[in-house]
Amino acid sequence: MRIDKKIADARTLSFEVFPPKPEADDDLSGIKRTIAELSSSSPDFVSVTFGAGGNNRPRALDIAKIVTSHGMVPLSHITAAGYTREDASRLLGLLRDLGVENILALRGDVPKDVSEETCWRDYRRASELSAHVSEFGAFCIGGAAYPEGHQHSVSTEMDIRFMKEKVESGVSFFITQLFFDNDAFFRFAERVAGVLDTPVIAGIMPVFRASQITRVIEISGCRAPEKLSSLLDKYMDDDDSMREAGIDYAVEQINGLWSAGTRGVHIYTMNRSREILEILKRCDLPGRGESVQR
Ligand code: FAD
Repeated sequence: MRIDKKIADARTLSFEVFPPKPEADDDLSGIKRTIAELSSSSPDFVSVTFGAGGNNRPRALDIAKIVTSHGMVPLSHITAAGYTREDASRLLGLLRDLGVENILALRGDVPKDVSEETCWRDYRRASELSAHVSEFGAFCIGGAAYPEGHQHSVSTEMDIRFMKEKVESGVSFFITQLFFDNDAFFRFAERVAGVLDTPVIAGIMPVFRASQITRVIEISGCRAPEKLSSLLDKYMDDDDSMREAGIDYAVEQINGLWSAGTRGVHIYTMNRSREILEILKRCDLPGRGESVQR
C-alpha cells in the first residue's frame, strides 16, 4: 500500500530499522525476530535504511522482504551518494519486483572511501533523485526534513524552499531528522505549513545509552533540552538507568506530539523491539488509525 494513501486517511505510527552488519547478525535471524516483534504493534509502515554508496544493498532488499512477509508496508530508503541514474534505475526495478511501493529519496553523504567527484556523478541533491524516481513511475516518494537545520543549511527559509523543490519533484510526505525538543518541531511544522500542505512526520529516537546519543547529537546538530542534558550527564555510566529514563523521555515526547495533532510519529528503533514495545505500551495515542480531521 502507498504511504500517501495511508497518510491521507489517518495519522500514522511507523518505525525505522536498519540492515545489521553481517558480523553482528550473519543470517539475519536477529533482525527477523526484531521485525516479527515490532509487527505486533501494527505500524502503518516500516522504513529500511540504505548505506550511502549502496554498500548494504542486498541486505536492505532482504529486510524489505522480511517487513513484507509480516504483512507490513515497507518504505525503502535510497541515497543518491555514489549512485548513477543507471544504478538507481536498477535498484528501483529490484524494489518494484519485490512489491515495494514506497521510497524515501535521500541525498546521502560522501562515503569515507569515495571522492567528491565520484560521489556526485548524476545527482547532487535529493530532489534530483526524487525527480528520477518520479519519472521511473510506480512509487510513492518521501523526503527528509530537518526541524533544527541540516549541517549544510543556510536558513530555515532556504530549507523550506528546498522542501518545496522536493515536492515539485514528486515527494508527497516528509520524515524529519530526530529531535528531542518538541517545541523546535512545532515551530518548524508551523512554518512549513505556511508554504506547503505536505504532511510532515516527526522522527523520534529514544535514548538508550548516554554515550551513543551524545555522538548522535554531535552528528545531527539537534539540541538536547536541559532536561535531557541533565539525564545524559547523570547516567553517562549507568546504562540501565539511562534506558529507563530514555523510555520515559520518549513516551513524553510522543504523547506531546500526538496530543498536539502531529500527522505521524516515526520511531528510529535502532533495531530494539523490546524497548520500543515498552514505549508504545505507555503511550496514549487516541484516534490512532482513525480518519484525519480536515
Ligand atoms: P538534500 O535535500 O539534497 O539536502 C542536503 C542539504 O543541501 C540541505 O541542507 C540543503 O540545505 C541543501 N540543499 C538542498 N537543495 C539545495 C539546492 N537546490 N541548492 C542549494 N542547497 C540545497 N542517509 C543515508 O545514507 N541512508 C539513509 O537511509 C538515510 N536515511 C535518512 C532518513 C531520514 C528521515 C533523514 C532525515 C536522513 C536520512 N539520512 C540517510 C541522512 C541524509 O542522507 C543526510 O542528512 C544528507 O546529508 C542529506 O540528505 P537529504 O536527502 O536531506 O539531502
